Amino acid sequence: MLWTGPVGSGKKTYALALTRTLFCEKGEDCTGCQACHQVLHLTHSDLFWLEREQGKNEISVEAVRNLEKKLSNAPLSAPVKVAVIPEAGKMNRDAQNAFLKTLEEPPAKTLVILLAERTANFLPTVLSRCRPVRFGALSSGLVESLLVKTYAWEKPKARAATEFADGNMTLALQFANQDWMDFVAKVQVDFDRALTGGEDDWLQTASLYDQMEPDFLEEKTLTAGQRKAEVAKSALRIYAGIWNRRLLNQDSIPSNFGSLPPDQVLRSIQKHLDIIPSYLSPRMVLDHLFLELREGFKKGEIVPISFIESAVQI
Ligand SMILES: [Zn+2]
Repeated sequence: MLWTGPVGSGKKTYALALTRTLFCEKGEDCTGCQACHQVLHLTHSDLFWLEREQGKNEISVEAVRNLEKKLSNAPLSAPVKVAVIPEAGKMNRDAQNAFLKTLEEPPAKTLVILLAERTANFLPTVLSRCRPVRFGALSSGLVESLLVKTYAWEKPKARAATEFADGNMTLALQFANQDWMDFVAKVQVDFDRALTGGEDDWLQTASLYDQMEPDFLEEKTLTAGQRKAEVAKSALRIYAGIWNRRLLNQDSIPSNFGSLPPDQVLRSIQKHLDIIPSYLSPRMVLDHLFLELREGFKKGEIVPISFIESAVQI
């Protein structure tokens, strides 16, 4: 199976839940038998959870061959073996080709689940061999009730995180991380100033975020370029969350923003978020966003600006 959907839409959680239903020794109301416990800690001997190796940007053909070797054995204690590749889109071309035979004719009693944000990185031959399942963003009601019931958060905190996260559970959960919350406060001040301050504020902000090493980015395995992209994406997700709250009127819009409709601001931020994993540098994307929004605030509506135009102005 190939499960695709945005970050925070529950793919990993669901993969673990499905594995539990297959491996559990007790059944529906199980509160934690040994098998379930091992699944949740990724220590069950019939669950193969293939992560990208530390310090590597892709999943290699060796890693896939190694997995195939393990899958060729019979399950040890569970009725089936389950293999999950959480960042399956990171399998390089050779790795995907090497995996074709397993996807075409999996060994007996084997379930393979590939998880990815989108199908773009897969070979057509891989796609045609997988059963696709599409995950959408979660509803706000579900995010809030999960935070309250599963994570035992106080209601006001859960509500604030939900309004911010817009259906992304991973983002909502970041509200428990102080380093992240410090970053949220910083983004709000910096980005608001980049939009309403002088030209210096605008140009300095993009360059500041281009060199930033925030505390919440714990994964040390990213390359310098990936870290820059990750910082820019996180900042844009946060700023989208801030405007989502402003749209919902939970946070009032500072008066110096004029009368630009918040939904237009949100759409523009979202558009730039989608551009980040592209050939443009994250810094150019931020510069462009600030320019487009600054012009928008002056005119009262957002008129898309081409990247060439913005490069000339900057
Ligand atoms: Zn169980």
